[in-house]
Amino acid sequence: SWVDFVTFFNYIIDRFEMTKERNVHFRRLFPKEAIFVEIDEDKLTQVIDNIISNALKYSPEGGTITFRVKVLDDHIEVSISDQGIGIPKENIQKVFERFYRVDRARTRQLGGTGLGLAIAKEMIGAHGGDIWAKSKEGKGTTILFTLPYDPGQEDDWL
Ligand code: ATP
Ligand code: MG
Repeated sequence: SWVDFVTFFNYIIDRFEMTKERNVHFRRLFPKEAIFVEIDEDKLTQVIDNIISNALKYSPEGGTITFRVKVLDDHIEVSISDQGIGIPKENIQKVFERFYRVDRARTRQLGGTGLGLAIAKEMIGAHGGDIWAKSKEGKGTTILFTLPYDPGQEDDWL
């Protein structure tokens, strides 16, 4: 269905912010205007839930998670950045593969099946977008994804 992505995203982030049990700060850098996109809300909620859960899992005490939405030519770019342990360069593509986890011992402790980002890739692909990661070990990780967006569409809402 058609939703304003900023409202939709804020709602998900609010849910995490109200229930988080860790000392991690949330920062939101969003455009002021509404951005109407056609999405499967349940599926994108699942995607974003996983990315935020990962960011929380790997964030250091007192760290900041930054949420950004950028409007580009014909798509929006959404990113979620943490200041956590990061992902080694050689593994950065693999995190989108099924059952892949960077460090078995560590993830055994933190839980998870290694499916979250593989599902995210499938679902973002089904929406016509891309998903990728940027990371520096010891500095943090950013997960970015795009969704198609038609700026001309806004006129229909006036
Ligand atoms: P699931 O999501 O199925 O519960 P998971 O979180 O282990 O399990 P993914 O979400 O697919 O699986 O992530 C795959 C792996 O990528 C993780 O196990 C972890 O090693 C690494 N990873 C993902 N996000 C981050 C992050 N923000 N910081 C550091 N490592 C990450
Ligand atoms: Mg996960």
